[in-house]
Amino acid sequence: MTSLHRRTFILGGVAAAGALVLPARTALAAAPFPFKLGVASGEPAADSVVLWTRLAPSPLNADGQGGMANADVAVDWQVSATESFATLVASGTVTARYADAHSVHVVAGGLSPDAEYFYRFRAQGHVSAVGRTRTAPATGTFGRDLKMAFASCAHYESGYFTAYRRMAEDRPDLILHLGDYIYEDGATSGSVREHAGTAEIVSLADYRRRYAQYKSDPDLQAAHAIAPWLVVPDDHEVENNYATNVRADSSPALTAAQWTARRTAAYRAYYENMPLRPAQAPSGNSIPLFRRVRWGKLATFHMLDTRQFRDDQACGDGWKACGDADLSTRTLTGATQEAWLLDGLGQHLGTWDILGQQVFFARQFDASGAANMDAWDGYRASRSRIQQGWLDRSVRNPLVLTGDVHAAWANDLKADYASSGSATIGTELVCTSIASGGDGSATTTIPNASTNPHLKFYSARRGYTLATIGQSQVRADFRSVPLVTQHGAAVSTLKSFVILDGRPGLQAV
Ligand code: FE
Ligand code: CA
Repeated sequence: MTSLHRRTFILGGVAAAGALVLPARTALAAAPFPFKLGVASGEPAADSVVLWTRLAPSPLNADGQGGMANADVAVDWQVSATESFATLVASGTVTARYADAHSVHVVAGGLSPDAEYFYRFRAQGHVSAVGRTRTAPATGTFGRDLKMAFASCAHYESGYFTAYRRMAEDRPDLILHLGDYIYEDGATSGSVREHAGTAEIVSLADYRRRYAQYKSDPDLQAAHAIAPWLVVPDDHEVENNYATNVRADSSPALTAAQWTARRTAAYRAYYENMPLRPAQAPSGNSIPLFRRVRWGKLATFHMLDTRQFRDDQACGDGWKACGDADLSTRTLTGATQEAWLLDGLGQHLGTWDILGQQVFFARQFDASGAANMDAWDGYRASRSRIQQGWLDRSVRNPLVLTGDVHAAWANDLKADYASSGSATIGTELVCTSIASGGDGSATTTIPNASTNPHLKFYSARRGYTLATIGQSQVRADFRSVPLVTQHGAAVSTLKSFVILDGRPGLQAV
């Protein structure tokens, strides 16, 4: 979709006859192509969507400014119902500020519900690639079935982003990214491809350059250009396994003030580089990310933040048999977010209540009783309050979507994980990683299956999950690529399940 529309750009919403067509050849000479990070859209509502780009003709410059001079730049934007841009439904001009690393977040309004649109930008005499996006159905309507994909964990050095490319080729209506969009470690020689910068990223310039490097990837750009995204970060957008204001490791050594400054930089760069609404702009060392996005009567996405408000890992990081993980005072969400979530679940806004979140939700104990202290297993009372909360509110179809673990899983959620006959009260789908972990392996043997019979599927390959959401069922297709250490792997569906309306849990297809 990239090349067709670079030569002309119709300005100002004037359509067809009388349209002002930019003389492309004269303008093109002025500046190097600034749209090397692609385009993106996100946060679809029934009448609006966020359009994003960031100007960076030299993405890997160490100052994080992408080769842009210290000046603000006017950026024109257009939205059309057709890829030819013959007529415009919305357009305008926004300022890309040097202070924002020349990122822009346009809220394109006045759109029709449940509709497909195309958008593009122009700056410095150049026209961007064309992105496809769409709006949600109107409140009170179901709209068409929603073909949604979700993904996480794209370690650049571990492999190519083939899974992002294949996801784009599936042409989903919506993409959820559940965290680890970037990784913070420095370059490792011998990797499939190397991070820019030898040291772990710490400063605002470092984070900005890291996003620019990832966003230079054409497969990632294709995934952004195909559909609107809903994003939430996990730990690696800041640092591995951090909890609120507590670090999980001490490398590199940072004072408390330096750690606060690092989080501030990381959240700022995250906002700058994601198609988020201005309501999600950070304030100092916090960023307001938990939010609800409604998809008509069909679905409600409760996007969670399980990093900024959590207690520190019980008994430390890693897999532990840890009694403290049961403490009733422990929280993964914080009290405010927990109350907000339960209130939203109690409103029964749509057929499917979907929790878009980061870490493994179902119980997974190994034979010795150890569990992952970074996941909900380290915060069991917090999980119980949410599960009991949706039971108390008669939530019809709770569906938890998860990333983080670099493997695909499908899990029944249980009222009481310790009782084999306990009722299934919800469903969890866990996407594997885009690249983290490298090629993985072909095994589908479920780890710790004997102690966790509610865990129904596992794959150690890279990929993503498609969820086709209809009024009577959700169909989940676990999409898998056999390798990421070379370009161009084909994708296939390893396993599919359906979840029926009013009947929590996985059904075999
Ligand atoms: Fe990860
Ligand atoms: Ca993670």
